[in-house]
Amino acid sequence: MPAKAVILSIGDEILYGQTLDTNSHWISGELDSLGIRVVRKLTIGDTREDILKSLLEAEELADIILITGGLGPTNDDLTKPCLVEYFNTELARNEEVLAHIQNLFDKRGREISEVNKQQADLPANCEAVPNPMGTAPGMLFQKNGKVIVSMPGVPYEMKNMMEETILPRLKKQFVKDGIFHRIIRTIGVPESVLAETIKDWEDSLPDYIKLAYLPTMGSVKLRLTTDNDSESRRAEVQNLIDQVLPSIEKHVFGFDNEEIEEAIGRMLKEKNLTLSVVESCTGGYLSHRITSVPGSSQWFSGGFVPYSNAVKNEQLKVPSEILKEHGAVSEPVVLSLAENVRKELNTDVGVSVSGIAGPGGGSEEKPVGTVWIGYSDRNKTVAKKFQFIRNREINIKFSAIAALNMIRINLDKE
Ligand code: AMP
Ligand code: MG
Repeated sequence: MPAKAVILSIGDEILYGQTLDTNSHWISGELDSLGIRVVRKLTIGDTREDILKSLLEAEELADIILITGGLGPTNDDLTKPCLVEYFNTELARNEEVLAHIQNLFDKRGREISEVNKQQADLPANCEAVPNPMGTAPGMLFQKNGKVIVSMPGVPYEMKNMMEETILPRLKKQFVKDGIFHRIIRTIGVPESVLAETIKDWEDSLPDYIKLAYLPTMGSVKLRLTTDNDSESRRAEVQNLIDQVLPSIEKHVFGFDNEEIEEAIGRMLKEKNLTLSVVESCTGGYLSHRITSVPGSSQWFSGGFVPYSNAVKNEQLKVPSEILKEHGAVSEPVVLSLAENVRKELNTDVGVSVSGIAGPGGGSEEKPVGTVWIGYSDRNKTVAKKFQFIRNREINIKFSAIAALNMIRINLDKE
């Protein structure tokens, strides 16, 4: 049985919707990769009764309790006094922590205040966890074989503490068999179609290898999980993947954490090709996704955001008759844009996007969510129409993903 964990996210701001609880999301992923099972996540406000109740509840459920938030030096943060009460102990000044805080203030050339000094007062039964990134130390408690850790809410402080101290400790104390995941990344195929295609293979999986379908925007992750991270299990999972791949190959762009823009980069690099883009309705989002990939300058030359018809005509040389006759969101316009950007920027591949993101601007003929995407390389220039939905943000994201997938499909044919 894998060890169990509960994550407690403390802070009124999370309940109010002012802060997104990214801490528990990140912690879950880290624990999962160690093979520790997160059985509950609780979000609570800065309220004494709720904190104490949640600690009791968490202790019943799990071997490990990881707490973030409520450790600021001000009166609204209550986690520390609650821990003192919970463990029926008292505060004691930790000289090492005090020296660290003093040092941080000296470096910033600031006078240390009494409130900040009090951050070195810790429950007497805890072990202080160093916080090189800030003033609030973490606190680690051992109780009847269980571990309870309290960390600051600031994400980069918490992550540093987890990586440097907590995760290695948990691994040593709780991890025996580990866990192994392998993810097949697919795009442009609905999960129901995938499920139908791989039904026989899915039915043949042994019970110690679990399959999950994880759909996100325009793509589906097929995750295989086994609760023993041994060489032989890894080989068995790989063998199963090799068996299923031929039937879904045309939808697969990569594995594990590789994103579609990274896969495009990998393909372009392998083929020694360069890319340029011209994007209207995505307003730079496609270029942003591409340039988020480290090293993209090796294969991405640049792009344009010609938002108005005048700029499409004057800068990207789309004939004004075409714009007048067909409108900016049309096949001839994206064909022209893709070919022209490829030639203007002297790249091997050019891609164009033009659509109606909404919520206004739709018509019966071209409703909101109508998007044309063009692709041009030395051998061909093609275009495809997509019909997305009535939400501007989603249309922008879907358009960029569809454009990336269009590059993938056409490069595959090269
Ligand atoms: P605290 O430890 O309560 O002083 O938290 C400091 C800051 O960290 C808060 O103001 C939030 O901006 C941030 N924070 C707290 N909890 C979380 C969380 N669960 N996820 C992301 N950020 C958080
Ligand atoms: Mg707080």
